[in-house]
Amino acid sequence: MSEKTLIKVNNITKIYKLGEVEVPALNGVSLEINEGDFLIITGRNGSGKSTLMRQLALIDRPNSGDIFLKDKEVSRMQTKKRRKLRLTRLGYIFQEYALIAELSALENVMLPAMMLRPIKDCRKRAKELLEKMELKDKLNNLPSQLSGGEQQKVAIARSLVNDPEILFADEPTANLDTTAGHEVMEIFKKLSQEGNHTIIMVTHEPEEEVYANRIIRLADGKIA
Ligand code: ADP
Ligand code: MG
Repeated sequence: MSEKTLIKVNNITKIYKLGEVEVPALNGVSLEINEGDFLIITGRNGSGKSTLMRQLALIDRPNSGDIFLKDKEVSRMQTKKRRKLRLTRLGYIFQEYALIAELSALENVMLPAMMLRPIKDCRKRAKELLEKMELKDKLNNLPSQLSGGEQQKVAIARSLVNDPEILFADEPTANLDTTAGHEVMEIFKKLSQEGNHTIIMVTHEPEEEVYANRIIRLADGKIA
């Protein structure tokens, strides 16, 4: 493992069980991701992209294989420790934004910080981030009072509130029109270049591949 290796994946498999039926989703994936990489993962529907993202982001655990974050093996780590790591070092952005409908933009962004810091600090940090996303005038809007692009920008701000090193984004522009999608990609580009974030993104859009310094294609749960 070189000094710049941030994530090392060693031959992981993931099999979902639906009653008696076993659905293999990852069939021996190995991969190294370096600090500062902008990695794009592509592949057909059902090829295992979201499953791979969830294993890397500590949302789920593989059936076999290892995942190292820096030099720590994390796939078999205690749940409590994994949760702490996820909260403090990783950010996750979903295709469907996954905002809480009853909370304002500001409250959605504050939420992950509230487990770690005093509420005043959370509010200040959340405001700063929403200003950066050019949503200063919409702090108190509910998600239903925002466009898709605005909701995704709130979700990006939320993912940044605890200053994570690694950002995961699973088809973040798939629900957006071209203009909003482009705006979101430019935000990721800035985060990669100026914020030094490592970005791991799934996309179906070939024109988004120019943003990446590395691209991997999955087919049938394997790197093609
Ligand atoms: P992609 O994101 O590339 O479309 P997924 O990782 O979502 O692919 O899915 C990979 C395979 O695993 C597919 O065959 C899918 O049907 C199956 N799968 C995904 N999630 C689950 C689940 N929670 N339970 C059972 N099967 C699943
Ligand atoms: Mg998917």
